[in-house]
Amino acid sequence: MLKVLESNRSWDVIVLGGGTAGAIAAIKAARAGAKTLVVEALGSLGGTGTNAQVTPLMRNSSSGINLNQGLTNELKERLFAQGDGATDQHNNDNWFNPEGMKYVLERMLVESGGEILYHTHFVAPEVSEGVSRKVSSVVVHNKDGLVRLHAKAFVDATGDADLCVRAGAPYQAGELETGLHQAMSLRFMLGGVDQERLCEFLASHGQVQEAKEFMHFWMVWGKNASLEPLFRDAVAAGVLEERDGDYFQGFSVPGMPGCISFNNPRLAAEINDGADAWTLSKAQIDGKHAIDRLVKFLRAKFAGCEQSYVASYAAIPGVRETRRITGDYVLTLEDILECHTFEDAICRNHYPVDIHTPRGKKLYHERSGDLPYFKPEAFHEIPYRSLIPQTLENVLVPGRCASATFEAQSAIRVQQNCHSMGEAAGLAAAWMASKNLGAREIDGLELRTALKAEGAYL
Ligand SMILES: Cc1cc2nc3c(=O)[nH]c(=O)nc-3n(C[C@H](O)[C@H](O)[C@H](O)COP(=O)(O)OP(=O)(O)OC[C@H]3O[C@@H](n4cnc5c(N)ncnc54)[C@H](O)[C@@H]3O)c2cc1C
Repeated sequence: MLKVLESNRSWDVIVLGGGTAGAIAAIKAARAGAKTLVVEALGSLGGTGTNAQVTPLMRNSSSGINLNQGLTNELKERLFAQGDGATDQHNNDNWFNPEGMKYVLERMLVESGGEILYHTHFVAPEVSEGVSRKVSSVVVHNKDGLVRLHAKAFVDATGDADLCVRAGAPYQAGELETGLHQAMSLRFMLGGVDQERLCEFLASHGQVQEAKEFMHFWMVWGKNASLEPLFRDAVAAGVLEERDGDYFQGFSVPGMPGCISFNNPRLAAEINDGADAWTLSKAQIDGKHAIDRLVKFLRAKFAGCEQSYVASYAAIPGVRETRRITGDYVLTLEDILECHTFEDAICRNHYPVDIHTPRGKKLYHERSGDLPYFKPEAFHEIPYRSLIPQTLENVLVPGRCASATFEAQSAIRVQQNCHSMGEAAGLAAAWMASKNLGAREIDGLELRTALKAEGAYL
């Protein structure tokens, strides 16, 4: 029997997973006066945004106003100040460098008084049974072995709802009818690119770039992309596989001249469940092999890429959706399309339903474009109750595994919404600890008012 070591310290708030939502949750909790610890499996904060290299932040604005402000604004300001963030001519201020983001998030947390336990995996919660199911501690694993950590409130920001699932809380995973998840990708950075020549090449192939600092080019089969003939030829010549053209998208990165970040390759269709360890391992192997094909293709066919090389493979595969908690409120597609608002709103979203379909499958749900949601000034809200997992008293769940249907999750999962959800969870968790309250005893309207007073756009 393995021995579990007792930590001789305890915290007000433990955040499991220092990713997109978790890092922000921890910063907020620490600034609200809570003794805060982040438990993170990897060696840096930012999760999918940094370690899966998902750049840029997806734009989320309505009537020209960014819907995610608060700590997201501070994060952007600090990224800009060190040359790792930038705004393009279309007023899109979401370009960022994932390496810079790792550093900025860490500084924001440490300066706020929060602590980080890196290279540590959450293993299991210890839950008091009875009418009120409270998590009293969590067992984690790291170089010390198995260790028990105590806190008053917990934020499950693992992206896969690991704490909730292991505590027996209800959840859903994948599309309701099929159980299939959105397609996964393994992102990579290509270094040694002559961006000026690449811009000229792309312009001559129908994709004019704003500037070498703000590049965005793409190809998806059947979407009339001007680069499609190049991909067709490469498939015919056996350089690429058919699936390599399912999704191809490149972005320049602030602070990384000569580097292009690719939002691909999509992984093989059967590599679909990002909460399964063997699948995650296959994702790394399949993804690198696909990257090898793509780099050979880029070197041979894209001017400016002749001397390019793989600067880095993402440390973790890009996982769009795994498990979603069943919360006190489950956000639905109708909430989005009909622009529902809530008294206890903690986030506003205008980003659309965006389901990346695995090869050969049908997941996409076509909707007509005359619903209120499709107006440029539209937005819907996410209620605080979507962060509260059913059957647990002192846990909150921000990020891609918050409580939403499969379709609704595909819209709210983008990074800036994860920040806003994290910010709300962090403040609420700090209140839970300081006032000895359960998640349901926090007044959602009071939370919204406090978030707004501290800069959130609500
Ligand atoms: C390929 C791809 C492209 C995307 N494109 C965009 C885009 O262009 N712009 C945009 O804004 N959004 C995009 N998204 C969506 C967005 O990036 C994610 O939905 C969002 O970052 C998820 O944030 P999260 O906090 O829920 O999870 P994550 O950021 O993944 O954070 C989870 C954290 O928990 C840690 N963790 C997990 N399990 C454990 C454990 N058991 N113990 C300890 N730590 C653990 C992980 O290491 C990680 O740090 C994309 C997503 C993907 C996959």
